[in-house]
Amino acid sequence: MLDPKGIVTIDGPSGAGKSTISRGLAAKLHFTYLDTGAMYRAVGLALEQQGIDLADTPALAQCLAKIELTLVPNGDDDVRVLLNGEDVSQATRTPEMGMVASRVSANPLVREKLTALQRQLGEKGSIVTEGRDMGTVVFPKASCKFFLVASAEERARRRQAQLAEKGQIVDYQEILDQISKRDYDDSRRALAPLKPADDAIIVDSSSMGPAAVIDCMLASIAKSAR
Ligand code: C5P
Repeated sequence: MLDPKGIVTIDGPSGAGKSTISRGLAAKLHFTYLDTGAMYRAVGLALEQQGIDLADTPALAQCLAKIELTLVPNGDDDVRVLLNGEDVSQATRTPEMGMVASRVSANPLVREKLTALQRQLGEKGSIVTEGRDMGTVVFPKASCKFFLVASAEERARRRQAQLAEKGQIVDYQEILDQISKRDYDDSRRALAPLKPADDAIIVDSSSMGPAAVIDCMLASIAKSAR
């Protein structure tokens, strides 16, 4: 199998199933799961709560310096995000906070802070990490890199079902529009845009369930470790 110091990266657009797959893969490998989107969401929440204007660089820098993010394992395959000691995992898992995270994530100071923190968390290895720039920027030397895709319609359908399970009824077209805007913004930003690393394996989950995707990734990992 993989070197115990190994890092597996899973990048891809929103709603492609990265969280479910990353959690499941981490559990199979007995690795730690690192959700970097949750970190951008938490920072987005902090900046919103404090009314920080991204264009006000001194205020932004001051606010970022005071933000303390902690990731706490929650069971075998989940993680909670604490923002200055407060659990914000649920509060940040909304489509609106996804849009906020996307906006703040294009800022260089925000990226600098979170990239450094992510590298620190990855230092010991044995992680499966998901995001947009894990394989390209944060862990360019990762042992195995995946780029998970699915059609925008399929992603919107899945997101709608997920939200419905939590009792949130959201219009399909609204979700599709949000997903398309986030894809567009995340792919076109200057810093760490959403794109596959040159050595990433592209996995299309449009017509595969999570178990099949995880099996496919485990097979690639085993092959790359040979
Ligand atoms: O993955 P998730 O939907 O939680 O990410 C929220 C937003 O955070 C993304 O749309 C993206 O703009 C940003 N993000 C990022 N780089 C990462 C992870 C997330 O820019 N590594």
